[in-house]
Amino acid sequence: MKLPENFKNKIRKYFKDEYENFLRMYDYSPLKSIRVNALKISIKNFLEISDLKLKNTGISENGFFIEDKSVKNIGYMPLHHAGAFYVQEASAMAPVLALDVEKGDKVLDLCAAPGGKSTQIAASLKGSGLIWANEVIKSRGNILLSNIERMGVKNAVVSSCSPEVLCERLSGFFDKVLVDAPCSGEGMFRKNPEACLEWSNEHVLSCAKRQKIILNCAKEALKENGILVYSTCTFSPEENEEVICDFIKKNDDFELVDIKYDFGRPALKDYIHQNNDIIKARRITPLDGGEGHFFAKLRKKSYTECITKPYKYKYDKKVQSKIADLFKGISFKELTDPIEMVGDKYLLLPEGLPDLKGINILRTGVLLAEDKKSRIEPCHAFFMASKPEDIINKFNLSDFIENEFKFLKGEELMVPEGLKGFTAVTLHNKIVLGFGKCKNGILKNKYPKGLRNKK
Ligand code: SAM
Repeated sequence: MKLPENFKNKIRKYFKDEYENFLRMYDYSPLKSIRVNALKISIKNFLEISDLKLKNTGISENGFFIEDKSVKNIGYMPLHHAGAFYVQEASAMAPVLALDVEKGDKVLDLCAAPGGKSTQIAASLKGSGLIWANEVIKSRGNILLSNIERMGVKNAVVSSCSPEVLCERLSGFFDKVLVDAPCSGEGMFRKNPEACLEWSNEHVLSCAKRQKIILNCAKEALKENGILVYSTCTFSPEENEEVICDFIKKNDDFELVDIKYDFGRPALKDYIHQNNDIIKARRITPLDGGEGHFFAKLRKKSYTECITKPYKYKYDKKVQSKIADLFKGISFKELTDPIEMVGDKYLLLPEGLPDLKGINILRTGVLLAEDKKSRIEPCHAFFMASKPEDIINKFNLSDFIENEFKFLKGEELMVPEGLKGFTAVTLHNKIVLGFGKCKNGILKNKYPKGLRNKK
């Protein structure tokens, strides 16, 4: 692979003795990697049913390299559709680990699309607390939402706001904030060789400018003692060490803290004269078993008043009983969280929400059901966030492997005559892939048209 000469000259300074070895890595394409989604399936069950040849990444216990480079079209695989895993570069799993998500945390992922790290945060929260996933570009926000649904996340808010607006509106609200900043993407060149044709030092500097602005907003959203993780998938120190040193210089109420994981290597010592602690930040390079990430963990020492009021949940008995009537034939689990109607949609809301007025929200919680002309119907997102054991009627597609692919193409399926009404379809009886409606031995396919496999 041909790297731009000016990029090589620049990076030589930072890789020093390792420079030649680093360059040699570009003669090979990297292995793809996936993260098993603990919200929907255990690693043990996944390894039992997946036919991929996998080896752990050494970065996250849920992260695996696909050893066979000829595996293609991963997005078409039934287990991918079911949210059993997310295709995520191995080093991209590190920043969320550095965040040390704890039960009940309220976490903001400020630059979240397409959602690799938001869905990883959601898996670490195990259904507790709140993951607020924000993406400033609306079209990318919709992809983010689709991934949040696919991965079965219940306790998410998905918004599309500028960091300025969101962080001011939610100042002092979050325990943890992740800024996975837009960057020059030098760590993605092996995966996406065309990207390196667009590389220029001017682009690096303009990214650095934007990163400083985003960080300056993010600091407001944090509580006292809150944790901020800043990450990029690039090597240029202007976007990494320099951004962090500059931020701490201007904000002495923030300090760099140790990252308890030792994957990768410490950040560049060259910046130690600016901040002694900068080596607490870490880098992962292709020499360390990942494509390229920088991540720094900071603690906020000052207090920021949380000006936003708590959300006023509306307990509407009519709405609750309409939903209870619909779901008593579908789910063994009683839906106990607050359920609200927004337009023609019924949402199962997470607890602990702030006032949402004036924020461009794409989704709050789980889309349970929708009013159609004369009836109410359950939604795909509800089934994606359910476990097979919670659902009354289910049909296992994996008993006949063709059924998995037929279902994903939107076809009707033959099912036992006894199955009636809304029915979850599962893979290997272990994970829900979607649903259909059964009548007279036929399952009418309810897999959303936009998600279906074209071939
Ligand atoms: N965290 C994501 C994940 O793991 O899937 C990847 C995030 S990507 C590195 C950076 C994101 O920041 C992009 O989705 C991009 O659209 C968004 N972005 C671009 N300009 C931005 C800005 N000025 N402020 C905030 N986010 C921005």
